[in-house]
Amino acid sequence: MFFKLDSFALMGIEAIKVAVEIHISNGMPSFTIVGLPDKSINEARDRVKASIINSGYKFPMKKIIINLSPTDLRKEGSFYDLPIALTILALSGQITSELFDCSSFIGELSLDGGIDPVKGILSMSEKAAEIKKQYFFIPKENANEAGLIKDISIIGCGSLTECIEILKNKSEINKHTHKNYIYPESDSNQYRIDFSEVKGQFRAKRAMEIAVSGMHNILLIGPPGSGKSMLAERAITIMPDLNFNESIEVTKIYSLIKRRKYGLIRSRPFRNPHHTISEIGLIGGGIYPKPGEISLAHRGILFLDEFSEFSTRHSESLRQPLENKSIVITRNNVSYTFPCSFMLILAMNPCFCGYFGDENKKCKCSIREVEKYWKKLSGPILDRIDMQIKLPRLKEEHFLENKEVENSHNIKERVSNAILMQNERYKDKEINYNSEARPDYINDWINQNQGLKKITADFSKKTLMTARGISSLIKISRTIADLEGENEIAENHMIEAFQYKISTII
Ligand SMILES: [Zn+2]
Repeated sequence: MFFKLDSFALMGIEAIKVAVEIHISNGMPSFTIVGLPDKSINEARDRVKASIINSGYKFPMKKIIINLSPTDLRKEGSFYDLPIALTILALSGQITSELFDCSSFIGELSLDGGIDPVKGILSMSEKAAEIKKQYFFIPKENANEAGLIKDISIIGCGSLTECIEILKNKSEINKHTHKNYIYPESDSNQYRIDFSEVKGQFRAKRAMEIAVSGMHNILLIGPPGSGKSMLAERAITIMPDLNFNESIEVTKIYSLIKRRKYGLIRSRPFRNPHHTISEIGLIGGGIYPKPGEISLAHRGILFLDEFSEFSTRHSESLRQPLENKSIVITRNNVSYTFPCSFMLILAMNPCFCGYFGDENKKCKCSIREVEKYWKKLSGPILDRIDMQIKLPRLKEEHFLENKEVENSHNIKERVSNAILMQNERYKDKEINYNSEARPDYINDWINQNQGLKKITADFSKKTLMTARGISSLIKISRTIADLEGENEIAENHMIEAFQYKISTII
């Protein structure tokens, strides 16, 4: 006797279909599961058996074999309790339903027959809709999140008994379908912090506005207490709101690491891992590959404070994700992909003691020590940082000043307009922001604008910047021009952009 139900497994951010197959025969009573890692098989067997009995059904005293196909894919053991229990009850003749073929099932059972939430429900719901299933039976607590996906009816079940009751009464299925989530209006106060709280540092604030507008990675250099972290944290408050698709992308990632009860994530993520973080924690990985900090920062900001303390391996491992905006992790010949499109903000002291170049406090480092300190930053990572800005130590008068300072709401409006200009410019291209502009785009800008051609030649001659440096300079200039609503890059944009290059600040 054979029967099967459809379920899902996670492969990075994507879900794939898993068939839960059952074969029951006469013979010595046994209960075998194939296709799960050893330890979780035992746990799944115990949970399924207990919950069937505690829900008032019989556990057949026969030879039962469950196969989770494809078998070679590593699966989370607890996902399949619900479909396993249902296949046992169906094949032993205790339940029947017309809904089995057009539905998929997922859920962890508790010993009393309750259904506990699982991770990654959003990716699985998306897949269920894609393979044209009509219904997806899932844990009740996951229903808010799964309901974000259109073209699939989500049936949230609190217990095995409830799930069976719904399966038996096809005519009542609509009553149990979870209502689709409605995308709420923007919540302007979602971050509870504001740019106006940063005192002084007008140049740094302007630099941050430009960086966010073009999604340029930025390095903040300043002594302790100059407000580097404060400024970095507030950068998300001037970014445009996430649109629906971006919100889904972010929610999908967070859904992979946590069993979430709630719906859509609306705020851009801000992640600031400590320099002691493991490489797996930063980049992603593990036995069941999980997203790392770079993916948890997707569509938001990754802030690495005290960057000089991070290891060379850390910074090298950031290179490929910064370039590709996604990371591929391979385990047992299976590739798991996680998106990681984030803006990188680095912060550093200007030297070991923190006071190199300070007006009032004397730096205790030797020139050699300062050189050694800066060497750590050289190489691949610096190539991917478009902008650098120095924050001086704040003077007392800055703390006391009562001047009206611009708030995040106003700055966000300018940033949003600059991003709209970029959307228009890149609408047929595979990129979204000026920071991603390829060398051939930059050449086109130069060739189509005689003024820019001349200024670029002058800059190259006077500053001795490398070709990479010049192209980064033009990208920042493009963003400054966008902030002013200008179609052409002019000399004043280049002059301002030049202030944000490392050669001018150390
Ligand atoms: Zn020093």
